[in-house]
Amino acid sequence: MKPAELKKIKTLLNKPQKIVILTHWSPDGDAMGSSLGLSNYLLKKKHQVSVITPNDAPAFLSWMKGSAKVCEATKELEKATKLIQKATLIFCLDFNSLKRIDKLGALVEVSGVPKIMIDHHPQPDAFADFMHHSVKACSTCELIYTFIEALGDKKLLDKNIADCLYTGIMTDTGSFRFPSTTADTHRIVAALIDAGAANAEIHSRVYDDSTEDRLKLLGYSLCEKMVILKEYNTGYISLSEQEQKQFNYQKGDTEGLVNYILSIRGMKFAAFMSERDGMIKMSFRSKGKFDVNLFARNHFGGGGHVNAAGGFSNEKLEKVIEKFHALVPGYGKELKTLNKK
Ligand code: 5GP
Ligand code: MN
Repeated sequence: MKPAELKKIKTLLNKPQKIVILTHWSPDGDAMGSSLGLSNYLLKKKHQVSVITPNDAPAFLSWMKGSAKVCEATKELEKATKLIQKATLIFCLDFNSLKRIDKLGALVEVSGVPKIMIDHHPQPDAFADFMHHSVKACSTCELIYTFIEALGDKKLLDKNIADCLYTGIMTDTGSFRFPSTTADTHRIVAALIDAGAANAEIHSRVYDDSTEDRLKLLGYSLCEKMVILKEYNTGYISLSEQEQKQFNYQKGDTEGLVNYILSIRGMKFAAFMSERDGMIKMSFRSKGKFDVNLFARNHFGGGGHVNAAGGFSNEKLEKVIEKFHALVPGYGKELKTLNKK
């Protein structure tokens, strides 16, 4: 962020504001961690702060400070609408296109108050007045940390803020193993632990919170539903609504499932397709240069990062699988040669 912009934000934050923090549809660890981390910081600066999510977050994130006060638009649309209309300042975290916040996008679009986008996804839309944006950042939580630092407020970091930011960095880096993890990431994480982040406890809260059904769904998905297109170093798993019901699907139960495919030696491209609320939600992951952000944008109305993206389709699950099968050979050259490196 340019010094002049930072100065303007400092001026804005020097007087009490009614702040709304928004994050993307199906919020993940980084979305909730950055929103609640920023919220806990801004509350310390004596602002009125509301966090609004378009829909619900998985239960394994509900321990974060402020989580109980989050306004979920699918349940409280009227409240969310009023909060946005009365806001004097809006933060948009971990997304960069208003499409990602569903119905709330139209409200943000017409709002005349300053909007600050903090995000690390490529190709941001131009709807914000201020942007703290870097595709090099491993997570939005990392950017919240550097934002607080740039405002000269590192001393305000406390356990609550640090726990939230640590969570988002941990989840978006796959526990510090994706190439987005840098020495800076580790330095920030060290500062967060110094500020009180309970690293081991957080890992356990997020990753050791499965139900028996969830593990069985994982086993079923890997044993019965994983399809490997060996020639293309590609694999996918699809789950119908019925199959998910069979294992008492709870929000978050299929989180991370797609990554198992990429743990197979030589695998470069993985997809997960799940039938939910009458549509097919897709998750894409890749290793190396195969760009799933482009794949998701070009074929499934979505987006994300080079190595992790998502999209959706309104077609039937069988049709989506057919479409996927038809698309992959078109990337054959890329997917086959990648493996020879
Ligand atoms: P996931 O597969 O975990 O849902 O998402 C992986 C990444 O892609 C995340 O960074 C997420 O924000 C992004 N993403 C997921 N679904 C969509 C989508 O429908 N549209 C866009 N633009 N990004 C998505
Ligand atoms: Mn993120």
